[in-house]
Amino acid sequence: MFQDLKGRRVLITGSTLGIGLAAAEAFVRMGAKVGLNGRRVPADIEATLARLNALEGEAAFFQADVGTEQGAASLVAQFTERFGGMDVLINNAGGLVARKPLPDIDKGFFDAVMDVNALSALAVTREALPHLKASAKDGQTSSVILVGSIAADVGGGPGAALYGAAKAWLHNIQKNWVNFHTADGIRFNTVSPGTFDTAFHADKSDEVKANISKGIPMGRFGKPEECAPAFLFLASHACSGYITGQVLNVNGGQFMP
Ligand code: NAD
Repeated sequence: MFQDLKGRRVLITGSTLGIGLAAAEAFVRMGAKVGLNGRRVPADIEATLARLNALEGEAAFFQADVGTEQGAASLVAQFTERFGGMDVLINNAGGLVARKPLPDIDKGFFDAVMDVNALSALAVTREALPHLKASAKDGQTSSVILVGSIAADVGGGPGAALYGAAKAWLHNIQKNWVNFHTADGIRFNTVSPGTFDTAFHADKSDEVKANISKGIPMGRFGKPEECAPAFLFLASHACSGYITGQVLNVNGGQFMP
């Protein structure tokens, strides 16, 4: 499986850690050319690239803040200059920004959460569109994958209302893109993680994590590498060439639509 990912050019936003980095490794193992991205240059980036480049494919890092339109444009320009085009885009950058209850939410916080979760995906996808369109040929589709969240369906935890709403926005906007860009040879799908053991949950005590685990039929948080095959599947034309506009929940049974 996934042999058609060999040599494919895959950009993953927000991929210096967690789910994005695990996905990057899975693509490199399949022989893909992968662009890692972070807002800042991580101290361990050279070691990360050396580890990935010792595998089957190729990895490079591109610094850009995808929560800004300039950052999104710069990222796509850097990536396509290096790899000569783009076949797969994974809009993974996202986060809570902070936890704020309704009385504390103001326009500044609204903008910050929407910028990193919604604008980032919109702006990077817009900039990538001509490249993805050029990539789709001979019946082989290119692929855009959004990273949604269980919060989009259940509303998010304490202080995470805007985050959940921004993720729901992503779950929805791909429907329009499917309606109007399938003719360009591009598929759009969303991977919706449940609760994964990453820096995202660094603010939680072991006790809180144990309580959350009790609500997951599998009884534990997911590991980032357990989310990665969902991205491989939705990126591979051979595996999912007739799948578009869908949300793939990867959540140990925590939410069942
Ligand atoms: P993480 O905090 O470990 O990683 C987030 C990554 O995004 C980091 O590499 C960070 O540098 C990058 N990033 C953040 N803002 C950025 C910006 N403006 N520009 C560029 N890069 C930026 O988080 P994670 O748990 O790996 O989450 C990955 C995605 O999965 C996010 O969209 C998150 O909302 C989503 N998600 C995570 C969980 C979970 O339980 N961990 C659940 C549902 C959805």
